[in-house]
Amino acid sequence: MQRSEVSAPADSETLRPAAIRHAQRHLARHLAALSEFCAIPSISADPNRREDVAQAAAWLAAQLESIGVRQSRVIPTPGHPIVYGELAASRPGQPTVLVYGHYDVQPDGPLEPWESKPFIPANRGEFLFARGAADMKGPLYATIAAVEAMLQQGSVPVNIKFIFEGEEETGSPNLGPFLEAHKTMLAADVCLNLDAGLLDYEAPTITYGLRGIVAMEIRVHGPRQDVHSGIFGGVVHNPAEVLARLIAALRDGGGGIAIPGFYDGVRLPDETERAELARLPITEASILEQTGVPALWGEPGFSPVERAGGRPTLEVNGLVSGCAGDSFATIIPASALARISFRLVPDQDPELVSSQLTRYLETLLPSTVRLEVKLLAGSPAILGERTSPATRALDRALAAAWEKPPYYQRGGGGIPIVSQMQSILGISSVLSGLAGPGDSCHGPNERLHLPTFERGIEAVIHFLHNFAQS
Ligand SMILES: [Zn+2]
Repeated sequence: MQRSEVSAPADSETLRPAAIRHAQRHLARHLAALSEFCAIPSISADPNRREDVAQAAAWLAAQLESIGVRQSRVIPTPGHPIVYGELAASRPGQPTVLVYGHYDVQPDGPLEPWESKPFIPANRGEFLFARGAADMKGPLYATIAAVEAMLQQGSVPVNIKFIFEGEEETGSPNLGPFLEAHKTMLAADVCLNLDAGLLDYEAPTITYGLRGIVAMEIRVHGPRQDVHSGIFGGVVHNPAEVLARLIAALRDGGGGIAIPGFYDGVRLPDETERAELARLPITEASILEQTGVPALWGEPGFSPVERAGGRPTLEVNGLVSGCAGDSFATIIPASALARISFRLVPDQDPELVSSQLTRYLETLLPSTVRLEVKLLAGSPAILGERTSPATRALDRALAAAWEKPPYYQRGGGGIPIVSQMQSILGISSVLSGLAGPGDSCHGPNERLHLPTFERGIEAVIHFLHNFAQS
């Protein structure tokens, strides 16, 4: 690998503040570049935006090139391309950080609620408004700005590999095969992922756990086709009713799940972890306000924060049968369909949960109907080591940039890339982010909080230095 001339390894305690000062001095330029990036409508889900997505990839590769990442390139996939680049540390024997990001964005949706056009970035107050500003062009660009500031001081303290994908918002269909095909190229000690957000601009956050998922379809088949209830009512069993009974039987009397064996693999959070979760600035009142429900619900014995991140759940995501639209007809429907999903925690096995559900439903099923159960998707939960060197490096980095210790949260959802990094490359991820709950990721008027963006750049500089020393 090419490298600019290497002087004697300078002290990180002089390089680090120098890099931070450099980033601060160049903030206006970074903001201009980020606005340029956000102006590219790289909506991965929209086939008409294919060229825009490609343009965003080219823009990123050029950006990496311009800061001194000489190996940067755009690598095609069957879908949208991946941008890749490498930098060598100033000294041999240093660890390697894989910096993950995605440059695609959500669709802009109905334009009416937007106060300024989604792809004409606008500065208002402390915010940059644009689709993708928070999720996650801003956080991604913060990693580039941080590395640029470090390179301006001569070198980076760790080996760095950048991987930026263009299909995160469509479920990363080509990322898994890409990781499989480039295992050696992507080898690293840890992955830094800033796509997990923070609890509040004043609450730097490390997401150390992500729940897994099992998504399934349950179909109950009755008569060959919809039949007249005046003729067959009372004689033919109604599949919609059978399905309703089956679904009701999945729940125990409280908020628990009644499927035999379901809780066997579930690991309970330990006391330290429960105490840490209790610190999180999330209250019953804040959840009531966010959702508009009259009261909270759920498994007794666990706080809302624990239930939403540390306990497994079951949700009915959709029900379809008979007159599901506006019309009404007196029929017995031919079939009834439920789409359900579980959120899993360590150490539950998605395949096992799927077969436990199927077996349980079969035992409950009356002989008057037929049952079809399909597993649509499954991935296990991820739980990071809260005491790993990378997590400690990130902890100290956030604490330095925010001048307060970070919060540790378990994310209720999953980030597929994190499981893929783990299962395919054997690389664990440290997760944080710069998008707050009010930044409308995926909604209208998406925005990036600029003081948080600035702290983010600083935190990345700290993280890379901290990790080099660990
Ligand atoms: Zn994202």
